[in-house]
Amino acid sequence: MIMRIPLVDLKAQYLSIKSEIDDAITRVIDETAFIGGKFAAQFEREFAAEIGVRHVVGVGNGTDAITIALRALLLKRGDEVIVPANTFIATAEAVTAAGGTVAFADVGEDGLIDPEDVRRRLNKNTRAIIPVHLYGFPANMDAIMEIAQKHHLFVIEDAAQAHLAEYKGKKVGTMGSVATFSFYPGKNLGAYGDAGAIATNDEALAKKSRMLANHGRIDKYDHEIEGYNSRLDGIQAAILSVKLEHLSVWTDKRREVAKKYSDALKSIPQLILPSMPAESRCVFHLYVVRCEERDALRDHLKKEGIETGIHYPIALPFLRAYAHFGHTAKDFPVAHRLQDEILSLPMYPELTDKEIECVVGAIKRFYVQR
Ligand SMILES: *Cc1c(COP(=O)(O)O)cnc(C)c1O
Repeated sequence: MIMRIPLVDLKAQYLSIKSEIDDAITRVIDETAFIGGKFAAQFEREFAAEIGVRHVVGVGNGTDAITIALRALLLKRGDEVIVPANTFIATAEAVTAAGGTVAFADVGEDGLIDPEDVRRRLNKNTRAIIPVHLYGFPANMDAIMEIAQKHHLFVIEDAAQAHLAEYKGKKVGTMGSVATFSFYPGKNLGAYGDAGAIATNDEALAKKSRMLANHGRIDKYDHEIEGYNSRLDGIQAAILSVKLEHLSVWTDKRREVAKKYSDALKSIPQLILPSMPAESRCVFHLYVVRCEERDALRDHLKKEGIETGIHYPIALPFLRAYAHFGHTAKDFPVAHRLQDEILSLPMYPELTDKEIECVVGAIKRFYVQR
């Protein structure tokens, strides 16, 4: 019988902490603290302490976190915000939702925003840059911050995939003007529904974000501006508090899984493995390899019962949603090439040695047949 290995396994994690989670949910219901309230406030404090920022504002999801952060930074119509060509659409979508204009920058061979290309895309309308710590790998923050300081730009770190990652000893989410997190269930710290957060050391920005996330209200039925209905709900917050206690162990496990993959796969010359930069602590939201015969390898793994993913199969500039920009492959050559080469292998903390061996064995069999 073949072993079925999913890309992510949320059930395995739930079973490992079932009683803690079930108790937490019951407590929220007992206290009817459904929206905001004490469980949300508690998680905000805990998460702020964990990443080392002064303020965390819980919101409805990671996309709203970016939109609200941009609105709080007073983005004006026509302001351009540079986002990487290779990321989930939410990063760009939030810019448009906040009234700004998206501008894409190409990525480097590691799939992360390329500071050199950011420099080329700057113009008089550029107001902000959103580096994405994609796959759990910190973006090149020294270069991004240098550009931002020189040109007086805001930096919004999209840390949706990088809880607890570190860049040169600093946690991601602490380096830009503001950072945003997603707690979508499949993220490294995932709720059991939608949830997100804004993190910043700037008190005024935190206050403004909290107001925007709650209908622009300053008091009950007194609204300074129009905002959003995007609040952290109590059940999600209580679940996140339980899971936050385990996050550092789970993160170590992800890193161990990555190391085992890399040790076992480095003998295959046709595969390019994720490089682990010495200055960063990568948290492996995804383990992404690159190869020329990506689709054939993916089909082969599927036949062997192994689920893989592609993050992302169409780089943002080439999506129909952004066809109005009229971008072509030569505008973003690296993102365009990577979209046909990248493959995400199963990655979650509960992945067993036997499962890792099974994935590795299946990949080796593919290359032996060639
Ligand atoms: C998941 C994700 C988001 C959006 O988060 P949601 O909580 O799903 O709205 C934004 N940016 C990146 C890079 C993501 O991976």
